[in-house]
Amino acid sequence: MIYLDNHATTPCDPKVVEAMLPYFSETFGNPSSTIHAEGRKVADAIKAARSQVGALINARPKEIIYTSGATESNNIALQGLVFQADGKRKKIVTTRIEHKSILNQCKALERQGFDIEFIPVNRSGVIILNDAEELIDEETLIVTVQSTSNEIGTIQPIKALAQITHSKGAYIHTDAAQAVGKIPVDVQDWDVDLLSISAHKLYGPKGVGALFTKGGPYSMPISPLVYGGEQEYGLRSGTLNVPGIIGMGKACDLCVNEMEQEGNRLARIRDNFERDLLDRTDVQINGSLNNRLPNNSSLTFPGLDAEALVINMPELAISTGSACTSGALEPSHVLQAIGMSREEANSTLRIGLGRFNTQEEITEASKIFIQTVKKLRRL
Ligand code: PMP
Repeated sequence: MIYLDNHATTPCDPKVVEAMLPYFSETFGNPSSTIHAEGRKVADAIKAARSQVGALINARPKEIIYTSGATESNNIALQGLVFQADGKRKKIVTTRIEHKSILNQCKALERQGFDIEFIPVNRSGVIILNDAEELIDEETLIVTVQSTSNEIGTIQPIKALAQITHSKGAYIHTDAAQAVGKIPVDVQDWDVDLLSISAHKLYGPKGVGALFTKGGPYSMPISPLVYGGEQEYGLRSGTLNVPGIIGMGKACDLCVNEMEQEGNRLARIRDNFERDLLDRTDVQINGSLNNRLPNNSSLTFPGLDAEALVINMPELAISTGSACTSGALEPSHVLQAIGMSREEANSTLRIGLGRFNTQEEITEASKIFIQTVKKLRRL
């Protein structure tokens, strides 16, 4: 099996697993039990992981809140701010190409009386800043736009959006689940207020993530969604997922050292792969060609059913859309939002390369693709 679905999830790096293992049965104390040495040992490890996560995005350790993943981080960001809003700002600005953990929240918040506005995106999926400038106003509470797309890989101009947002006195959140560990993310340079991270997208374990809160959670009017023992500055109660957090810390540390080289390597083999397909089949590449994730390739095969293509390539693990939406009958909301017809969207595959893919594997994958596309076209 050649695994090409690294946007859905990545395998844990063996170095991450190695770092996690002692925290299951050997060093298993509760980091809140700092009265004894066992608890303190774990608390120290949790602290070190906070620095490792922070270092990857240029945040201070106290600005990192541990969560169960980007879905939860996205929920705390939006609803946490909404709970403390004074009722004067009733507008939330986002895009139609966000992950469902943003879009479905927005639907729920709309039912509570919030006005949801969408910044238009161009055919590459890049937000149109002039339109953003018109939409974001003194009524806006929060602007939330993903840093990079989990389907078409497009990188958004978050820094410019943050400037517009702050000039109107609103908060800016970015879902960076697919960006952190793949491209340089600098919360200070971007000047974002809130940013979501997921460990399992960067070779860490599933079920753990983080929310960056500028200045730390006490600096922001943000309420918890879960009440309890006041862990994580009271913003996210519940006993910490210690092995998961240690794994996320290690995964972030590996990315600090490997991201640039890895990104260059993946972009090179991704480009070779796309060139092979372009030379030998009828295929169209989606997203912004000069501003996309180095590991992403979103491909449309006109006239072919993407699902049939996947089923006919059992040696490859590929997805037709985001893992959360593939399996649904509706074609991808992201592809439709960038102006594709339902037919085009249904002819589109998402390929996500990752740390453990080799050039040999991708050469093999492109052969399988070309053969299968030709076979299906003959049919
Ligand atoms: N946002 C984006 C852009 C994602 O790709 C994902 C994962 N599919 C999520 C949020 C959700 O992350 P998690 O699985 O950690 O909840």
